[in-house]
Amino acid sequence: MRIACPYCGDRDQGEFVYLGDATVQRPDPAGQDAALAFQDYVYLRENPAGWHREYWYHEHGCRSWLVVERNTVTHEIRSASLCRPVQMPGTMQTDSDTEAEAGQ
Ligand SMILES: [Zn+2]
Repeated sequence: MRIACPYCGDRDQGEFVYLGDATVQRPDPAGQDAALAFQDYVYLRENPAGWHREYWYHEHGCRSWLVVERNTVTHEIRSASLCRPVQMPGTMQTDSDTEAEAGQ
């Protein structure tokens, strides 16, 4: 299986580490029944046959966290994207940059 990393390009699966289901949402710890919600969050997972969104980590590459859409039956990959945009060194935004953007 090959995964197309947005930074590194098409790479062998051996460079990546599977990190789990990307469809589950962390429950609110202050919510009602938080303990039960966290039990479900930690222990209960779907085992779909077909398309699934998963977290993969490019450990032996750019070390980015990716969300990969993969067919669990055929291992076909439909998309691979960054979990969120990453600021590269030398392009870090300052608080004043953020405030200026918010004011626009
Ligand atoms: Zn990469």
